[in-house]
Amino acid sequence: MSFDIAYKVKVLGMKYNNLEIELLKHDTVKIKSKNKVIYIDPIKIGNNAEKADIIICTHGHFDHCSRQDILRLKKDETAIIGPSGVIKKLGEGHLIKVGQKLNGSEIKIQAVEAYNIGKKFHPKGLGIGIVIEIDGIKIYHAGDTDLIPEMKELAGKIDVAFLPVSGTYTMNAEEAAKAAEIIKPKVAIPMHYNAGIAGKEKDGEEFKKKYKGKAEIL
Ligand code: ZN
Ligand code: ZN
Repeated sequence: MSFDIAYKVKVLGMKYNNLEIELLKHDTVKIKSKNKVIYIDPIKIGNNAEKADIIICTHGHFDHCSRQDILRLKKDETAIIGPSGVIKKLGEGHLIKVGQKLNGSEIKIQAVEAYNIGKKFHPKGLGIGIVIEIDGIKIYHAGDTDLIPEMKELAGKIDVAFLPVSGTYTMNAEEAAKAAEIIKPKVAIPMHYNAGIAGKEKDGEEFKKKYKGKAEIL
């Protein structure tokens, strides 16, 4: 399940930056750099998980924003970041809106659009996608979204793209493959399936089959 940029460097032509990227379950992504531990949408976190410096929730739905899991990861100085629904649900956190950027000394976090087209679950304004730039690597976590026109703005700018593939609440594998064709990340990673919440076990494989670019199943 672990994805080590160091191993991928030769394949992708990226420089080695000591970055470890993991998809733990569903949409839970852990990014570890030399100095920072970041979790996006942490759920089903074990008791002994490494504590977070930064926790980002893309929206307030239970499979992306869980108070119980955040408490497991939190230490005094942990920054929690999310859109208004997340702040409201947790009663704390730093608000980020679509188009906004938080620029730290070694990490930049940008909120981008994430919404459904022709489905009722994620109207525009509910959630966000996230672009994190750390150690010179740009990671896109799409959140719960369909293939949306705003994805064009990311074209050619992303190293690692996490895309939902479950269908029902988000893009399905085929639509996610189309999204990846537009975004053209160095590597695309399917998420939001095979965790007993949405999608089927094979959705990741199907995505990999349909996408012509480089994909990894974590
Ligand atoms: Zn959702
Ligand atoms: Zn979801």
